[in-house]
Amino acid sequence: MLWIAISLFFLWCAYREVRTSLVAPAGYDMPRPVYVPYLAGVLVLAAVFAWPTLHRWYFEHYLSAQATALADGHRAHVHCNTVLDTMFDPEMLAAGHANPRTGKIVIQAPWCDRLSAYLRHPGHASEEELASLDMFTHESMHVRGELNEAVTECQAVQRNARAARMLGVAEEVAHRNALDYYNVLYQRRLEVGGLAGSYYSAECAPGKALDERLEDSTWAAF
Ligand SMILES: [Zn+2]
Repeated sequence: MLWIAISLFFLWCAYREVRTSLVAPAGYDMPRPVYVPYLAGVLVLAAVFAWPTLHRWYFEHYLSAQATALADGHRAHVHCNTVLDTMFDPEMLAAGHANPRTGKIVIQAPWCDRLSAYLRHPGHASEEELASLDMFTHESMHVRGELNEAVTECQAVQRNARAARMLGVAEEVAHRNALDYYNVLYQRRLEVGGLAGSYYSAECAPGKALDERLEDSTWAAF
C-alpha cells in the first residue's frame, strides 16, 4: 500500500498542475499554463509506483480463478504476500498456506515472483520455479478439501501438468515440467526426510494407492 500512497501523491501533483491551468492560483489574476515536462514527469512517477501493486492485484485475480478451477469449483482467493506481509504472517515459515474453510491461499514473498518467472520461461524452468508451480497446485488441493499433507502433495503432483497448461504453458512443456518435479524434487523429499518427508508417500506413484488415474495426469503417457 505504501507504493500506492506514493503513486497517489504524484497523481495529486498532476491534478494540482492541471487545475492551476484552469483556475487562477491564489495571488494570481490568470490561470498559468501547464508546465508539460513537470506534468509528464509526475504522471510517469505515478505509473511507476503504482505498477508493482497493480500487477500483483492482477496476478492474484488470475491465480484465484485458476486455483478455483483446479479445486473443482471450490472458491479460492490467492494472496501474494509482500515482504512486509510475510514479516507479519504468523505462518511465515510456510512458503504457502491455505484455509480450506475460507478458500484463502497465501503465497509468501518471493514465491509469487518465482511463479511469475516460471510462466515467463517455462521451457527452462529452475528447480525453484518448478517448486513454485507445485506450491500453487498443492495449496489449491487444500482448498479442494484435502488436509493430509502427503495426500495433498500427491494430488498436486498428478495435477501439475494440468495446472501449468491452465496457466498458459504449452502442453508438451507443461508435461515435462510436471514430470521433472515428480522425478527429481518430489523424490528428493524422501532423501531429505523430516518435514519435507512428511509430504512424501511411497504410494504416490503410477498404479499405487494414491494414483487417481486422472485422464490428464502428469503420469499419463504423452
Ligand atoms: Zn500443505
